[in-house]
Amino acid sequence: MGRYLGSSCKYCRREGMKLMLKGTRCDTAKCAVERRERHMAPGMHGWRRGRHSDYGVRLREKQKVKRFYGLLDKQFRRYFSRAERMKGNTGVNLLGLLEMRLDNVIYKLNFASSRKAARQLIAHGHIHINGRKVDISDVAMKVGDKITLKNSDKSRKAVKEQLASNPNFIPQAWLQLNPDKPEATIVAFPTREDVQLVVEEQLVVEFCSR
Ligand code: SF4
Repeated sequence: MGRYLGSSCKYCRREGMKLMLKGTRCDTAKCAVERRERHMAPGMHGWRRGRHSDYGVRLREKQKVKRFYGLLDKQFRRYFSRAERMKGNTGVNLLGLLEMRLDNVIYKLNFASSRKAARQLIAHGHIHINGRKVDISDVAMKVGDKITLKNSDKSRKAVKEQLASNPNFIPQAWLQLNPDKPEATIVAFPTREDVQLVVEEQLVVEFCSR
């Protein structure tokens, strides 16, 4: 593909799948993956290149998770260590921890059009948790946490406009949203089915456990 691809789209091209990194554009015909698939003849193999070694396959699965949630390597390692120390399946734990990041929660509530936009909203002080301002995106949310907006017209306007852009939006079951205020509460820990990334988390665990 000779045309310029936005910096986020190049990751989707590399992984050969939609990582949903550019907000509303990802759901439109402008999406680089959609455009590519429209122009592919039946039987072509998309953007996937050649065969990969076992190492390469596992590395790609790890990179997918990292890029999907917008993490640096060091941050990713920290989440993985926490997931290993938890009871249960490490891969599922890892995805659950990442889903509970504040930036992901804000995106999943449709308060922002992408995780990147959610990080901006948080950094600009528009988000309060349990009544206190929070300006750090990677805060680990807990069941029962209540998310409200700063008491300002600017904060309400930004989020209400985003919510209005998708009037049929229904949050996942672990999130309870009151779009009129707007405010929300985390009512459960997300399940594996709530993770919208197509990834084999066991391969991520195998890569990180080498
Ligand atoms: Fe770009 Fe989003 Fe499509 Fe990925 S899913 S190629 S980030 S528009």
